[in-house]
Amino acid sequence: MTLVAEVIDGVAIAEEIKGELRAEVAALAARGIAPGVATVLVGDDYGAKMYRRQIERIAAEIGLAYRDVTLPGDTSLGDVLAGIRSLDEDPAVHGILPLRPLPKGMEAPVLEALDPAKDIDCLHPINAGRLALGQPAVYPATPWACYVLLERYFARKGLDPKTAFEGKELVIVGRSNIVGKPAYFLALERNATTTTVHSFTWRAGTLPAHTRRADILIVAMGKAEFIKKDMVKAGAIVVDVGINMVPALDAAGNPILDEKGRPKRRTVGDVAFDEVKEVAGAITPVPGGVGSVTNVLLMRNVVRAAERR
Ligand code: NAP
Repeated sequence: MTLVAEVIDGVAIAEEIKGELRAEVAALAARGIAPGVATVLVGDDYGAKMYRRQIERIAAEIGLAYRDVTLPGDTSLGDVLAGIRSLDEDPAVHGILPLRPLPKGMEAPVLEALDPAKDIDCLHPINAGRLALGQPAVYPATPWACYVLLERYFARKGLDPKTAFEGKELVIVGRSNIVGKPAYFLALERNATTTTVHSFTWRAGTLPAHTRRADILIVAMGKAEFIKKDMVKAGAIVVDVGINMVPALDAAGNPILDEKGRPKRRTVGDVAFDEVKEVAGAITPVPGGVGSVTNVLLMRNVVRAAERR
């Protein structure tokens, strides 16, 4: 029997959360508090600049003050840390997001220089450690977005999102510090039976056996359309974190060119969406899934930091 998965609409869920945040920002404004967020970019990485634009746009949509700190790529570590410290001390800034990639050797000292109370992506070792200990102070936006999508999906199905994960087989593909590893702690927090698989699972030839067991499958590998339908259990809920650019092809398999004759590209996830949706019970699309919710949750962390203060 061929199923057609329900597509979990990240754009609609992001809009819902934005509405909630606007109300919280208005309530803070009535108390004379104006939440503010700052990004720190060192150098001119294209992806980091795109991300900076997205944060600026979404901060404006929600009504947050935005500060851009951009430093040349050859700025010394001491000067970058001085920039972070001045944001740490600035009462108008409630959340700080260092944009990756940072220049070589800078990532660890920059993250450690963040005031943990202004760390809106759970990057500071204290916040990451608290999450691992089951005492979270702040949730990391990308893995949190996976669970927010799932929780709102469960709620729409009439299930209690607080108990819907209990005892479910939840398999996470990937173990990076920013997605896979924290996604594991968030799964444990929800009492799921949790398995993490990674490239050595693949090399051992057991990856499909694990993914096929999953009631809920979260995929964060950075490999375009890697998860095929024979790797997914019928009726599973699939959350695709991947963002990959691939050449756009026409029906005959030839590259599609833009008006300047350059090959067009399109964004795909780590899951082969068209075929997996034939077996899954629900699936998040790329684009329009996890990525849409991630940035809104960063803003939620800014608002919460302002409320706590
Ligand atoms: P990453 O640091 O490259 O980690 C990839 C993980 O996948 C690693 O743990 C790796 O295993 C595992 N992996 C690679 N090939 C595998 C294979 N053949 N079989 C099983 N596991 C394999 O990537 P990341 O930063 O976690 O990002 C993952 C994806 O999510 C990327 O496409 C990224 O662009 C996207 N992303 C999206 C958002 C969003 O907001 N939607 C945010 C962040 C990242 P090893 O550890 O053994 O190498």
